[in-house]
Amino acid sequence: MKLLYNAYIHTQDPSHPTGSAIVIDRERVVAVGEANNLLPQYPDAEKQNMNGRVILPGLTDAHLHLQHYALSLQKVDCETDTQEACLRRVAERVKKSKPGEWILGHGWNQNVWGNWPSTSELDAIAPNNLIYLTAKSLHASWANTAALKLANITSQTSNPQNGQIQRDEKGNATGILLESAMDLVGNLIPEPNIDEIADAMEKAQSILWKMGLTGIHDFDRREAFLALQQLHARGKLKLRVLKNLPVDLLDQAYELGLCAGFGDDWLRIGYIKAFMDGALGPHTAAMFQPYIGEAGNRGILNMDSEELFEYGRKAAQVGLPLAVHAIGDRANHEVLDAYEQLRKYEQDNHLPALRHRIEHVQVLHPEDVKRLGKMNIIASMQPIHATSDMFMADSFWGERSRLAYALKTQLQNGAPLALGSDAPVESPNPFWGLYAAVTRRRADGSPSADGWYPEQKLTMAEAWAGFTLGPAYAANMENRLGRLAPNFLADLIVLDASQDPFACLPEDLLEMQSSATMVAGEWVYTSDTGNDGVS
Ligand SMILES: [Zn+2]
Repeated sequence: MKLLYNAYIHTQDPSHPTGSAIVIDRERVVAVGEANNLLPQYPDAEKQNMNGRVILPGLTDAHLHLQHYALSLQKVDCETDTQEACLRRVAERVKKSKPGEWILGHGWNQNVWGNWPSTSELDAIAPNNLIYLTAKSLHASWANTAALKLANITSQTSNPQNGQIQRDEKGNATGILLESAMDLVGNLIPEPNIDEIADAMEKAQSILWKMGLTGIHDFDRREAFLALQQLHARGKLKLRVLKNLPVDLLDQAYELGLCAGFGDDWLRIGYIKAFMDGALGPHTAAMFQPYIGEAGNRGILNMDSEELFEYGRKAAQVGLPLAVHAIGDRANHEVLDAYEQLRKYEQDNHLPALRHRIEHVQVLHPEDVKRLGKMNIIASMQPIHATSDMFMADSFWGERSRLAYALKTQLQNGAPLALGSDAPVESPNPFWGLYAAVTRRRADGSPSADGWYPEQKLTMAEAWAGFTLGPAYAANMENRLGRLAPNFLADLIVLDASQDPFACLPEDLLEMQSSATMVAGEWVYTSDTGNDGVS
């Protein structure tokens, strides 16, 4: 039994919102209250003085791709101000690699560097390795001669359709591959096996703990599920994972009779994930009206509401709810129509009303804003997308952006909010998400002191709930996750006394990180092993 005292605890338990001490037995919270009451009640508990630090329920990212995030961490970070700095990092990696091994990197930008790089710089530092570095835009890559050779790229190789092999004045490949030409080398990189993915995930898990995350809802596929099961079997999974399944496996799940909630509190089956449309960046999100400046383009709708309803009906028969990616107002409209039919189907067939959700809910038609709340559909949103996308949304959706990334509107209309990052699209740092949610500003302060559509700002309490109670509700775990209260799972984070997110300046959120993270009653991460007992 553990007793943490001399703390400032935010419990998220409305009947008992704060306390100074918490008692934990194995994986569960036993009591939260005041130290002078609890210390005499639990004389045998192992006591830890928290020195006035702040304790909060651990955060859950409700939309994350763990495998992709974990693998992205292994790449050399090429997002540097100069080409030289990037080359130094690659050279470091070469030193730690065996000859013939691939070295992957990501993040360079020729506009920042002022010129295109070429094979020769890479050949100079890595003559015996295969190098493939993708640009930040993901529309170009930079390879060394060994990699070009392996791909049989010579001065004779013609450009693939929709791609270009950049060449010098003599016609020789420079090492820069554009668009589909990237695949000439990219497709040769061996896929990591399950062990490698599991190892990468284990490393990523420690980073997530430090960021304050104790749970995720994962949207990667088969390999990710296998790797997670492997980690779990090894006793190394110390993150609550809700695992979602792609809709193309619905038939298999149905045949198996696989239900939501199968698994345990570490790894459990969640939702069937479907895609209704594309994204704002490439202008493929399905819209009622064209993109500004592109009279003919209304995006791409992958299916209509009828088709989605058919999936939903089949899934409902085995108790699997839907999580549907919908960005554009048309896509969201079709999903809502399908959910309306599905709610009726559930009722007519005496099936439970499942906790369906929409992923992103990026822009809604004015007539649709109340429908999520009305049907109790979870709005699974990523507050940091609002500030990353705001200029793009203004340019291509214009006035429609008033109802884009509209977190507050959804909350006010009664939709449960489950917040996340969509990492690795964005950093999974939940404090950056919280900052975006409460300020509607980027870290650099843009677009203005007031923020982008400031009426959509959440309070810290609403945002924190969106990263704790909301995801717990979506996982059907709200009776044991997201609060610090008796019988709840002991998943918590510790912040320095000066870092109370409910008392600090919003800007302070940008630097915040957990100084100690507990999952299931066990300290899985501590920033120090000082004499305060948190070790
Ligand atoms: Zn995603």
